[in-house]
Amino acid sequence: MTLSAPLDPRPGQQARHAGGCVQPVLLRGRVDHIDGATGELLHRYTTVHEPGGVLPVACKTRRASRCLPCAEIYRADTYQLIRTGLTGGKGIPETVSAHPCVFATLTAPSFGAVHARREHNGRVLACRPRRGGRTCPHGRPVSCTERHSAADSRLGEPLCSGCYDYTGSVLFNAYAPELWRRFTITLRRTLARQAGMTSTALGKQVRVSFAKVAEYQRRGVVHFHAVIRLDGPGGPATYPPAWASTDLLTAAIDQAATAVHIQTPATADLPSRTLAWGREHDTRPITATGELNDGKVAAYVAKYATKAVECTGTLDQRINPGTRLADLAIREHPRRLIAECLRLGKLPRGSNNSALAHGRTCSASAATSLPKAAPTPPPSARSALPAASTSANAP
Ligand SMILES: [Zn+2]
Ligand SMILES: [Zn+2]
Ligand SMILES: [Zn+2]
Repeated sequence: MTLSAPLDPRPGQQARHAGGCVQPVLLRGRVDHIDGATGELLHRYTTVHEPGGVLPVACKTRRASRCLPCAEIYRADTYQLIRTGLTGGKGIPETVSAHPCVFATLTAPSFGAVHARREHNGRVLACRPRRGGRTCPHGRPVSCTERHSAADSRLGEPLCSGCYDYTGSVLFNAYAPELWRRFTITLRRTLARQAGMTSTALGKQVRVSFAKVAEYQRRGVVHFHAVIRLDGPGGPATYPPAWASTDLLTAAIDQAATAVHIQTPATADLPSRTLAWGREHDTRPITATGELNDGKVAAYVAKYATKAVECTGTLDQRINPGTRLADLAIREHPRRLIAECLRLGKLPRGSNNSALAHGRTCSASAATSLPKAAPTPPPSARSALPAASTSANAP
């Protein structure tokens, strides 16, 4: 079959065929079922007899900004997938709900002060109050005493764009998946050390399962939310040893998140720098009846699985070489992030880095290539949260 580009959404018959998808992929062509032994044509399907000669198929995007009906299916599937990983069902035994399991948030570090809405006991606090009327080297105040509304378009924007570390912000997003990968390796090693055994010995007693989702913050950097569960060596059907407790897991996550870093390779125009998680890690136990229960966590992860950069006031489209940044209907902060993505993407790659990673760009959708960080040994074992792991919405 040939794959046609998505055409304009058309109401009626075709959209219904594709399950309400607003941008169905239109297939045109035929499928022949042939008996392998005799070469006899058993059955032929052709789109000639479909309305308009095409077969509309749902786009199946997970991004709500692209196609709400398809994203809704993705969200509901993710919800069920996470829920069964927490409470059992669909082939996962219900005993899984007694395994140590936490909801961890790994944040990005600061790349400069940004406008923020803070609340305490239901009261909105001043954004960033600083005494003394000091100004930055660009002459802008380092203080903001406004109590921003939730709809304030300045939220997430720097107090001074001249002081903001756009390079660091873009690099962090580009390397965040690698930072996450190293975190998972370090977490297993930390657990092994805490238990006084080698990583190999740990693998024979405990499996660590992850389901993570990336959330774009208003300032345009990602942070990760993850469900992390301990299983016995046989997966969700087996209980981990008694020493592998929630407290031990929580402490190990904190240690691993603090220890992990990436040294980016230096190029002529880009000095090496160290990237690490922000200092705030939040790890809370998931329980059946507590404040953070399985339904809440599943809903949270599923929600972010259908969202991406568009939530940060930037574009939900690919940037082409011919795109004029100045013409884009976006605010200055995302424009500068996109510009930095494009600048870094054009830098010559480090001579000692033949392998190049496709960097995930800032809050732009432009693809860029960035030098790969120093290699880390591959993970000793991969495991999955429910029957299959979900690594939704990697930036
Ligand atoms: Zn769709
Ligand atoms: Zn402010
Ligand atoms: Zn400044």
